[in-house]
Amino acid sequence: MKQSILVKPQQSSLEDRPIPEPGQEDVVVRVKACGVCASELHGWKGDSGTYPKEYGHEVAGEVVAVGSGVKGIMPGMRVTGLFGKGFAEYTRAPQQFVTPIPDGVAYEHALGEPLGCILSAARRTNVELGDTVALVGLGFMGLLILQAVRLRGAARIVAIDTRPEALESARQFGADETYTPDAIPDRLMMAEWGRVGKGFGADVVFENSGTAPGLTLASHIVREHGILSVVGWHQGGARQVDMEMWNWKGFNVINAHERRMDYLMDCMRRGLALVAAGRMNTASLVSHRFSLDNVDGAFRALVEKPAGFHKAVVLTT
Ligand SMILES: [Zn+2]
Repeated sequence: MKQSILVKPQQSSLEDRPIPEPGQEDVVVRVKACGVCASELHGWKGDSGTYPKEYGHEVAGEVVAVGSGVKGIMPGMRVTGLFGKGFAEYTRAPQQFVTPIPDGVAYEHALGEPLGCILSAARRTNVELGDTVALVGLGFMGLLILQAVRLRGAARIVAIDTRPEALESARQFGADETYTPDAIPDRLMMAEWGRVGKGFGADVVFENSGTAPGLTLASHIVREHGILSVVGWHQGGARQVDMEMWNWKGFNVINAHERRMDYLMDCMRRGLALVAAGRMNTASLVSHRFSLDNVDGAFRALVEKPAGFHKAVVLTT
């Protein structure tokens, strides 16, 4: 089979590898779609780790073989889950990390891993009915969080991004107010501790950008005793925070990343159910498609964010 291997920074090579054999508890899939995730961007650019790297973890595909101990999943089923090495024609995962794709949902709209992460973040961050919620960063994950926040009953949704185009998308998905970081009104900013009344802030702020300025801005916007939920994947070094201001405001911080795999799988199934029910829209977010021999093109699109970009997927068939 063909597998795209990252042989050195920003250079992938299509190589011949044996089709994975299923262990007793394993499911082997023919990969149909694999999302290109910002969490792998630093490694692709060359900022982290060693080479070669085998990338691609947002897999949806068709089951072609299962181990003798696998129950309830059989060849021909459409599945997603927590796979690795997904920029390939075939890959495998243990059965507990595999779940069916609901009927009527296309492979490229059923990328289980990001859906699981979004549902986990949304479930762990207690948005109450009537809250004002701010979102910092409206990329693929931010636009999914926006949809989850609407479902949880926010009264007002404020979207903040450096890209006007991302803000336009946020409006289409139901944001009530949109701002670039330099244009946020004072009433939303509670930046200066001790100055009660400068602004009201937001009850809940989701930091989706994974950047140092994004984290700083989010902590300025969150109100006293509000919730700051860190959804962005912060790579590339330690972050500095104004702990005196954090202490003064007394807000709660949710580190919205998930390592409990059974919980993540439960979140994934809930996310897929919302997509199947039409309550969460992933179809409008898959904007750029690449073939297996052009994984680098997909990562470049993630870096350059051409017009209309939300999410790149690699399609293997
Ligand atoms: Zn991912």
